[in-house]
Amino acid sequence: MVLAQLGGSISRALQQMSNATIIDEKVLNECLNEITRALLQADVQFKLVRDMTTNIKKIVNLDDLAAGHNKRRIIQQAVFNELCKILDPGKPCFTPKKGKPSVVMFVGLQGSGKTTTCTKYAYYHQKKGWKPALVCADTFRAGAFDQLKQNATKAKIPFYGSYTESDPVKIAVDGVETFKKENCDLIIVDTSGRHKQEAALFEEMRQVAEATKPDLVIFVMDSSIGQAAFDQAQAFKQSVAVGAVIVTKMDGHAKGGGALSAVAATKSPVIFIGTGEHMDEFEVFDVKPFVSRLLGMGDWSGFMDKIQEVVPMDQQPELLQKLSEGHFTLRIMYEQFQNILKMGPIGQVFSMLPGFSAELMPKGREKESQAKIKRYMTMMDSMTNEELDSSNPKLMTDSRIMRIARGSGRQVHEVMEMMEEYKRLTKIWSKMKGLKIPKKGQMSAL
Ligand code: GDP
Repeated sequence: MVLAQLGGSISRALQQMSNATIIDEKVLNECLNEITRALLQADVQFKLVRDMTTNIKKIVNLDDLAAGHNKRRIIQQAVFNELCKILDPGKPCFTPKKGKPSVVMFVGLQGSGKTTTCTKYAYYHQKKGWKPALVCADTFRAGAFDQLKQNATKAKIPFYGSYTESDPVKIAVDGVETFKKENCDLIIVDTSGRHKQEAALFEEMRQVAEATKPDLVIFVMDSSIGQAAFDQAQAFKQSVAVGAVIVTKMDGHAKGGGALSAVAATKSPVIFIGTGEHMDEFEVFDVKPFVSRLLGMGDWSGFMDKIQEVVPMDQQPELLQKLSEGHFTLRIMYEQFQNILKMGPIGQVFSMLPGFSAELMPKGREKESQAKIKRYMTMMDSMTNEELDSSNPKLMTDSRIMRIARGSGRQVHEVMEMMEEYKRLTKIWSKMKGLKIPKKGQMSAL
């Protein structure tokens, strides 16, 4: 996902600013120019970027900040908040309730991934105990019904459509009624797309919406449309009451910044992102953890949720206490590796842990990373308790390293590589010292 590059560029700009001895107007402007460049390159709309930097300058009035104020932290926090503001329209969208029938209508251009996303959305909710159903009201694209039928059958989700009826409004209404009678609580209506925005498409959308009275209209957008995102999203919003956005193909080479523009254009939140062609390549989208991860700050709330899932209850307070005290020993690293191997899918978990993501586990190379972790653990199995419990890397003399290599049947350079990894993580986790670890569901921004 190229958005990760955007995050990297912004983090670097913030880091460079942090390296400056004094933070004055010039340093702040340089930092903001870098951030502007990164956002524009990621296809975020120019006006949004300009407004964002103006706001940051307003918040961070260097002259007014008394000496002693941590200017770096204030600037970082302002960047974090402004990015969140772009992505968070400030009002939540309608959330379907289990057991109560809701109609959700999907709209978007042809090829945006609408039909695929309808099934992913249904499948996601089915796994959580909903009773979803799919209605194919796309009579424009030949094969649309077959595609939906195939997807629905694979996911064992009831579907409705017609090979002979050409009126999308009639199909939509019949489908919704059928499934209401069958007590389905999430009735998903897939509508026609077109290659480009045109009056006929919008008119059809309006009629389907009027007839089915959806509780929520979801606009599906391909993340690769770049700068066109704002106008496209706005055009859909003007025709039907778009309440939420799903951005697809975030796994590809798309720059992804269009997602930020789509939120601004529709004033609706992104609720999910599509990260692949498969049914389960679909992720809930949460603004703060997303921006936090984007800026390489780690996703504390996701991490906490995972900790609660896999670390036994009685060990949780102890681990968190140790981390907040800044004791990052090899034993903690070992235990975290154990947890990570248990947690799977490894990629998702890694990206939530501060420092564990990009370097130790590059995306797309999960298998290699898993093998690397297991190798590290074998080497740690040959360590003494003193070595595992010390937070002093100097303890690891050459003779100890040679002994560990011999004991685990690995090469000396591999033990040294593991120690480098440990030092790198120690540095990152030492920043957590004194940090108030948030409770489950809470988020610590910086
Ligand atoms: P529609 O015309 O908008 O209904 O689009 P489709 O659902 O037919 O999807 C168009 C193409 O995009 C298909 O080949 C899908 O497999 C693919 N697609 C949909 N969502 C994603 C995604 O999140 N990632 C990737 N890589 N491909 C996707």
